[in-house]
Amino acid sequence: MGLIVEYEHHWKSNEISQTGLDDCQVWVVAMSETKPDCENAQDYMAVKSSLPIWDIFFRRYYWDEILELATDYLQRQSLYVDYRRVATWNYNLANQVIESPDKVIKHAREAVKAMDLPIDVSNFEPYIRFKNLPNSIKRRELRQKDVGHLVQLEAIVTRVSPVAPKILIGAFRCSRCGEVTYLPQLDGMHIEPYECGSDACGRKGCLKLQYDQSEFIDAQKLRIQERPEDLIGTEKPQTIDVDVTKDIVGNINPGNRILICGILRVTQKATQHGKSNSMEMYFEALSYEIQDSNLNIGTFGHYETKLTP
Ligand SMILES: [Zn+2]
Repeated sequence: MGLIVEYEHHWKSNEISQTGLDDCQVWVVAMSETKPDCENAQDYMAVKSSLPIWDIFFRRYYWDEILELATDYLQRQSLYVDYRRVATWNYNLANQVIESPDKVIKHAREAVKAMDLPIDVSNFEPYIRFKNLPNSIKRRELRQKDVGHLVQLEAIVTRVSPVAPKILIGAFRCSRCGEVTYLPQLDGMHIEPYECGSDACGRKGCLKLQYDQSEFIDAQKLRIQERPEDLIGTEKPQTIDVDVTKDIVGNINPGNRILICGILRVTQKATQHGKSNSMEMYFEALSYEIQDSNLNIGTFGHYETKLTP
């Protein structure tokens, strides 16, 4: 019954219905903690990632970390979430973390942002970084079915680019009417708006990128390859490129052995004759742990979350 009280304390029924989650689902999630083999197992399995679910999860397991992060938000912007903690709490939700990390991270981040904290902190919206998956996969085992999923690799870093700013959202000013049109820059490509965003103007070809109004992030590229101990016989180590962005750039060096958790993505290969129909896989890092160094600065171990037993 105490768990139902928790629900009543955190969510009013109209808030629940606004987010599309019914009382039963919240109750069943809470029930699962004390009675994993409850009769409503089917309902339990129907739990979907949503803002209220992550609100319950964070209040229960990450409240102290969130408060610490809020007090230290100028120095640290990431909340590291132990995947195994999610899996222990709700197996179905953990599967969604693996299969739909983009959607899940959006919900989880919104949940933290919406929390009413007893600390005065402006624009508190930490990055959600999952870590500590139970299994790692080899580079050579990655397939099309893994694209868009959260995966974990153990690898050796062979190349590291310098950290450089990257445009996240471009601001384009129309030289005719002055209207600024904002456009997210995806896949590392520079994309310009087709036309001025002002309905009254709509002119094409007169938009200029405004650096001072665009949104930038720090970005860095790594190349990682399979570890010698993971190779069989005459296998040559395979490589994959990794995008590292925001507050986790600048801590990895060539030669480092890393355990890295991130989202597998694809980009279209370019050839002399235009774009190819074959795609190239790359990896967007969410968290990493440097395994060979005594100075674990910048690894998630540095920000290890203290879990409630
Ligand atoms: Zn215009």
